[in-house]
Amino acid sequence: MKMKTALLSLVAAVSICCNPALAKDLTIGMSIDDLRLERWQKDRDIFTKKAEALGAKVLVQSANGDDAAQISQIENMLNKNVDVLVIIPHNGDVLSNVIAEAKKEGVKVLAYDRLINNADLDFYVSFDNEKVGELQAGAIVEKKPEGNYFLMGGSPVDNNAKLFRKGQMKVLQPLIDSGKIKVVGDQWVDSWLAEKALQIMENALTANKNNIDAVVASNDATAGGAIQALSAQGLSGKVAISGQDADLAAIKRIVEGTQTMTVYKPITNLADKAAEIAVALGKESKIESNAKLNNGLKEVDAYLLDPIVVTKDNIDSTVIKDGFHTKEAVYQ
Ligand code: BGC
Repeated sequence: MKMKTALLSLVAAVSICCNPALAKDLTIGMSIDDLRLERWQKDRDIFTKKAEALGAKVLVQSANGDDAAQISQIENMLNKNVDVLVIIPHNGDVLSNVIAEAKKEGVKVLAYDRLINNADLDFYVSFDNEKVGELQAGAIVEKKPEGNYFLMGGSPVDNNAKLFRKGQMKVLQPLIDSGKIKVVGDQWVDSWLAEKALQIMENALTANKNNIDAVVASNDATAGGAIQALSAQGLSGKVAISGQDADLAAIKRIVEGTQTMTVYKPITNLADKAAEIAVALGKESKIESNAKLNNGLKEVDAYLLDPIVVTKDNIDSTVIKDGFHTKEAVYQ
């Protein structure tokens, strides 16, 4: 018995001496841009569950689209001595200073889903966002190979919105150059808000006397706003329109025929991966990367996951099969 106790304390002593991260509890601060959107609630829930299963404690705060709030929430987390920060930035251009502060205190920083510019990030985890844009434009071009296109970008301060557009233009530019597609308007939606997208679409329809064949919208929330404006003019279902996130409302619109497609990004894969990476950063273990992205300051090691196109034809074999939505919820 004594021998066993001695052995146990030896094991404890060894683990304290050689792996300090295991000796103390790891605290992760998760700073989220905006929990008002359906997808980020999923990200929070899955991330927290996985990180806790790995033994970490997670503090979560949402800035609800406010830059200053996000900065002070991050400062607050630093005051609470978090070991790792996981940040979904509202504005990818304003967090350099607070991240510099974090790094000075030895806190590791993981950019989640959206890249943060000009900051000393430790890692970036996301989907392949240029690919998302290619999938969106590709599906719309398939439906409307010619005609008047309206481009609806996402939040102008979200780096992802720029990557989605870059991917979209890879597909669209050759068709614009050949004259098949005419871009009749191009606007970006502040904070990705559906009500702003609705206004933008109303104005675009008025300006073009309803002469729009396709809308390349960058996510489901903004597509939802645009579709409301199209509906008011009797155009929903006639105008092709893209989305992203596989939000339940969007999947239902695809079933009823008012939205052409969405991009499904299995959040479980992202959030689980992010939790593993955050814990590994805290423990200073090695992390596998499959990409590098330049954020203006450095080449950031990244891990990018694959996005999936969803149309009427594959709802069952993607989002329903994965349990992202139930069959009842989609078809009721
Ligand atoms: C995300 C999208 C999301 C959008 C609005 C983007 O950065 O990648 O999935 O729809 O933000 O929250």
